[in-house]
Amino acid sequence: MSSEGGQKDQEVTMVDVLQEEQEREQDANAVLGGSDDQHCTYSSGYVPRQALYLCTTCVATQGENQTPAGICLACSYKCHEGHDLVELYTKRAFRCDCGNSKFEHKCRLEPEKEAFNEKNSYNQNFKGVYCTCARPYPDPDDDVEDEMIQCIICEDWYHTRHLGEGVSVPSEFSEMICGCCMGKTPLLASYVNNTAEVVADCPLKAADAPEVKSVTTFWPDGWRSRLCKCEDCHVKYKELKIEYLCEESDMVQEYEKQGLNQPTQYEQGLQALGNMDRSQQIEVLTEYAQMKEELKSFLATFAEENKVVTEEDIKEFFDGLKARKRRRVDGSDLLA
Ligand SMILES: [Zn+2]
Ligand SMILES: [Zn+2]
Ligand SMILES: [Zn+2]
Ligand SMILES: [Zn+2]
Ligand SMILES: [Zn+2]
Ligand SMILES: [Zn+2]
Repeated sequence: MSSEGGQKDQEVTMVDVLQEEQEREQDANAVLGGSDDQHCTYSSGYVPRQALYLCTTCVATQGENQTPAGICLACSYKCHEGHDLVELYTKRAFRCDCGNSKFEHKCRLEPEKEAFNEKNSYNQNFKGVYCTCARPYPDPDDDVEDEMIQCIICEDWYHTRHLGEGVSVPSEFSEMICGCCMGKTPLLASYVNNTAEVVADCPLKAADAPEVKSVTTFWPDGWRSRLCKCEDCHVKYKELKIEYLCEESDMVQEYEKQGLNQPTQYEQGLQALGNMDRSQQIEVLTEYAQMKEELKSFLATFAEENKVVTEEDIKEFFDGLKARKRRRVDGSDLLA
């Protein structure tokens, strides 16, 4: 053990760097939930849940002519390369709009599409704004550090400080339903007590006609399986178009698990290496060595200037590396 005190924390080894890169990749994979980055999801119809993007280069999100539209992951790569994209995180029951009547150009992956996807719903996120404050994210005019939480019904995102007066986020919860959505779904109020706490361990009958409470609620683990599934309730879920609440598979957490089962690029790389012939292996290893050299000289600049390498610096290095890689792959024969 080194006794050099603070010095220890500042050392960054190659293993640390790769490990961190691995973790970042896993986070990214979770959001993509195992999405296909090669094929447009249009032919799969209204996909239960997928990562979506706005293209503000192709479709105006502000002003008179704004027509909300969302595109799938593969389209964001193949049809909107170099465009200004806004990540929408995931939405349920959405069909890819890329290249339909809202766009001037056809989709390169699925050129034949109906003019509109009638069943898509577009909340304000498709205009690039979020929360009751209707601000963009990230917001250049907001320097308050605040987490955002997604409502599982309207799928809008809320600053924790804008969830309603007196609402505080509990340390443990599984899902959140915003006050506005609670007001529209009186059925759910049967699970909430007078202090707006969820009592999901004792399903009540819908016929109890609870008082409507337009207040943000936080739901504990496993609450969906404990919702009353009697015939009366089923009819009501259908009327309110919230049948998906009875499905655990609808949860973002479940979707993210699919992504976590995907091998990371690092793991795929190792596997691919094993499958290559000798000359290809050498080529790849040369590239890896170059990357290592780049990293070394990058780190050397810190040593020269007697500066501490921070986590941010490492992230920047890999972002730079990724950006170069992306450009190179898209612009050359490597994709063939
Ligand atoms: Zn698409
Ligand atoms: Zn575009
Ligand atoms: Zn497309
Ligand atoms: Zn807000
Ligand atoms: Zn909501
Ligand atoms: Zn019931």
